[in-house]
Amino acid sequence: MYLKRLEIQGFKSFADKTVIKFESGITGVVGPNGSGKSNISDSIRWVLGEQSIKSLRGNKMEDVIFSGASGRNALGFAEVTMVLDNSGGIFPIEYEELAVTRRMFRSGESEYYINRNSCRLRDIRELFMDTGIGKDGYSIIGQGRIDDILSSKSEDRRKIFEEAAGIVKYKSRKEESERK
Ligand code: ATP
Ligand code: MG
Repeated sequence: MYLKRLEIQGFKSFADKTVIKFESGITGVVGPNGSGKSNISDSIRWVLGEQSIKSLRGNKMEDVIFSGASGRNALGFAEVTMVLDNSGGIFPIEYEELAVTRRMFRSGESEYYINRNSCRLRDIRELFMDTGIGKDGYSIIGQGRIDDILSSKSEDRRKIFEEAAGIVKYKSRKEESERK
């Protein structure tokens, strides 16, 4: 399983639809300051359901929508699709690719899709539970995150190990059934 493709349209500095293809292995993104490198990793956290605009380096959620540039008007919505290889069947879907999409309008409303079928954010969270891929998963390590992990409370650190051990899904279902 690996990140195959990102399709970004109207998200931050990506006004036009931009398709970024990745191969399995290591990819480095290079470019001048302010050219949009960090916006790529922001787009991944956003499509996975990030609700905290601070961690996306903005002030209000609308800031993720392309706000215009010289000669270009602002856009009405942002859309990101992340495509993961699923040939190993890690995700319980019958397709060789998993495509997760989030679209957000200026009203603040977000739509989510799994392989182009409308779904809830909750479905996406559940799909990624125990894979380490969620917006807080250990597969996305932002600047300063290592320090956070080392200095965090032991209960917070435990969450990272539980995700790696693959038991978060069961814990979450247990908690849910206890609430009912
Ligand atoms: P650095 O090397 O300094 O880390 P970077 O390549 O990571 O730079 P980013 O932070 O990804 O750069 O991109 C910043 C750019 O994105 C800025 O030019 C900013 O104007 C632009 N940008 C951010 N949000 C929007 C938006 N909503 N609409 C248009 N442009 C935006
Ligand atoms: Mg950056």
